[in-house]
Amino acid sequence: MSLLIKNGNIITATDIYFADIFIAGETVQIIGKDLSVNAEKEIDASGMLIFPGGVDPHVHLDMPFMGTFSSDTHETGTRAALFGGTTTVIDFVLQKQGNSLKAALDEWNSRANGNAVGDYSFHMAVTDFNNETKKEIKHFIEEEGITSFKTFMAYKGALMIDDRQMIGLMEEVKKQGGMVTVHATNGDMIDYLIQKHRDEGKLSPLYHYLSQPEVTEAEASERFVDMANYTGCPAYIVHLTCEGALNAVRNSTKRNQKVFVETCIQYLLLNASLYEKNFEGAKWVMSPPLREKKDQETLWAGINQGLVNVVATDHCPFMWEQKKIGENDFSKIPNGHPAIENRMELLFSEGVAKQKISLNKYVEVACTNPAKIFGMFPCKGTIAPGSDADIVIFDPDEKHTLSAKTHHMSVDYSAYEGWEVTGKVKTVLLRGKVAIDNNECLVEKGYGKFIKRKKVNEKI
Ligand SMILES: [Zn+2]
Repeated sequence: MSLLIKNGNIITATDIYFADIFIAGETVQIIGKDLSVNAEKEIDASGMLIFPGGVDPHVHLDMPFMGTFSSDTHETGTRAALFGGTTTVIDFVLQKQGNSLKAALDEWNSRANGNAVGDYSFHMAVTDFNNETKKEIKHFIEEEGITSFKTFMAYKGALMIDDRQMIGLMEEVKKQGGMVTVHATNGDMIDYLIQKHRDEGKLSPLYHYLSQPEVTEAEASERFVDMANYTGCPAYIVHLTCEGALNAVRNSTKRNQKVFVETCIQYLLLNASLYEKNFEGAKWVMSPPLREKKDQETLWAGINQGLVNVVATDHCPFMWEQKKIGENDFSKIPNGHPAIENRMELLFSEGVAKQKISLNKYVEVACTNPAKIFGMFPCKGTIAPGSDADIVIFDPDEKHTLSAKTHHMSVDYSAYEGWEVTGKVKTVLLRGKVAIDNNECLVEKGYGKFIKRKKVNEKI
């Protein structure tokens, strides 16, 4: 199959130019002005912007958590991602404490393989680092193509590892050419505050927020950054939300340390006042929680300063019935919110259209950097000869309204219900195939491919 996209305005992390794109098979072959090549199909993209397919490096699909499963499967989640212009996602495999990494990977493969519509990869979340786990790291990096290892400094008693394990993991991962990523909040402090609020009968979603104050994230971020500096291990902080945590990273740059930072779309757009809506606030119960308006400003600035490298989602949806498990106790509300489908359009509308970030920056943080940092570039994350033909044709002027009535995620509420958005994903190509067109998905489950990732290159 060959395809010619004509007259589009191509946006990459560095360039903006008008050209035609000729695609044959799964990859981009030629980019040039007024190409005269014969293609089986032509798309006229006049008036449209052309982006690389989005890369969301932080999603949780079909994940067992807090006694239930996140409500998007690999099929529904990757399909919804495609509708929103995200062609590749990275999901998290969670090791069970006491079990091997391999056992967890087998479990995740059994749910994901053959079911994904869009492309996907895995991070390996290490919840129990010991001599046996240590022996598996090399195999994951060299054979499985899983080169990033997630750690939790929080969720005490479930997922959390202590600093002793963290240092050991960092040393081994550095040695083998991988990266350690972290959920950086102080699990002991949070555990204490949750218990204190419950003992005092303070059980509404607001106390989820008050149990995870900014200091819990700032302190853990600084500790993580220091441990990464000590071990020399490539490091990445997931879902960073606040000024205090970003300052820890900012300080580390003074000793020429590079720590990658991801924030998520919700931390740029939403704030903690939503927790004052009684139980409705459960829609936005996630960890870390939404923060203050001043933190939103810090994060937008951090993107432009090059301190915040990636905008992801931490997509982890639960049906309203599942959220109601915590109706009488905030600590039982499954953590997470749906956004996999909304990230690219929201970031364009609130970031580019409102002139907070440039078009190039938009592509950099939503497509290029996540592909580079996690070893998928230049197959993913850009538009260039030889790259996978993952392409989004985007109308920058079309306005529409986000709603659970029209979204494709398997969840019965929208965290952005009624939001007016400027800019709409019109057509999406995944490896040369038209995957989305006219609000219809044209590829089947099973089309999505597992992407083996390269060793880490810190020089992005
Ligand atoms: Zn997460």
